[in-house]
Amino acid sequence: MKHERLVEKDPPLRKDDLIVITGAGGFIAGNLALYFKNKGFTRIRAVDKKPLYEWYLRVPGVESLCLDVSQEANCHRVCEGAVEVYNLAADMGGMGFIERFRVECLRSILINTHMIEAACRAGARRYFFSSSACAYNTDLQQDPNVRALKESDAYPARAERGYGWEKLMSEMFCEEYWHERGLKTFIARFHNVYGPYGTWDGGREKAPAALCRKVIEALDTGRKEITIWGDGHQTRSFMYIADCVKGIDRIMHCDRLIATPINLGSSELVSINDLLTKIERIAGTKLKRHYDLNAPRGVAGRNSDNTFIKQVLKWEPDTTLDRGLAATYQWIKEQYLKRKKGQRVVE
Ligand code: NAD
Repeated sequence: MKHERLVEKDPPLRKDDLIVITGAGGFIAGNLALYFKNKGFTRIRAVDKKPLYEWYLRVPGVESLCLDVSQEANCHRVCEGAVEVYNLAADMGGMGFIERFRVECLRSILINTHMIEAACRAGARRYFFSSSACAYNTDLQQDPNVRALKESDAYPARAERGYGWEKLMSEMFCEEYWHERGLKTFIARFHNVYGPYGTWDGGREKAPAALCRKVIEALDTGRKEITIWGDGHQTRSFMYIADCVKGIDRIMHCDRLIATPINLGSSELVSINDLLTKIERIAGTKLKRHYDLNAPRGVAGRNSDNTFIKQVLKWEPDTTLDRGLAATYQWIKEQYLKRKKGQRVVE
């Protein structure tokens, strides 16, 4: 017989409690370290396997370690003394990456497997895992006029091959570490995240950043043309990074959400064609569109059903795409111009 665990109240989180964040050389975790630093936390340990000079964001005053957390011994070192652990490390990228490198994506299972065990042994109070909308059943995403995905739509399971299955399995680890071992775990299924300090070139970038860069390139080279992956009718929702880090904080500190996957995404659905139109408007241009029907394009449509998050947190990501894109376009343009001048940039 299965007994429900009693949720015991934590002592209040102190500003000098140790917070560990993995994947912090990347986009979301880097912004998360900055967010906690700005909130006044004084002991943040940021970890990534990338050498420090390649980190998108290095936050002054944050302990920054270059370690591979798919290795068990490193995870024990990383979690020592941790009160809260945010595991965002994963080998990932946009559709171009996750369709091509399924083995790499699957191997991220090692990261969560070792990190959650190390966090549990180290006596961490709370553990956060960044899951993905790719964990949802792909059969429900074959139509651009999608019904938004709600949390129960992950099962029966037919996740995105590779990347999605890794997320689904790691979610299960999180659920069972709570039920069997009493570690308070939190699981957010992110829907596409975009914003400053995100990948914008090199093959791992996602649609908003890729399209911003292509528009900037088109303007710079004077070739007023652009190639879109797929037919442009595929639909998605995109969450601005500031909403994402705020959501992570709120989810991690809500006891009702222990071991319970929850959507963290915007519910503003847009087609890729319309996304480009918005970016063109920001850039003050109009480009001739070509469509590459052989390029990876992912599922036909995907949106976040935010009924549950609104019910539990009385909040949902609410930065409009127009506002978030304007800030993102500006940031990518700065990076582009700096790189052109030969200066070092985040890519
Ligand atoms: P990112 O690629 O910018 O950051 C991930 C970081 O993890 C990288 O810097 C990488 O070097 C690091 N990493 C990979 N393997 C590692 C290892 N073995 N040890 C230490 N570090 C390692 O990606 P992101 O967009 O910031 O994503 C963060 C998390 O959110 C990931 O788990 C990702 O799957 C999830 N997610 C992101 C999105 C999105 O739209 N960005 C959507 C759904 C889920």
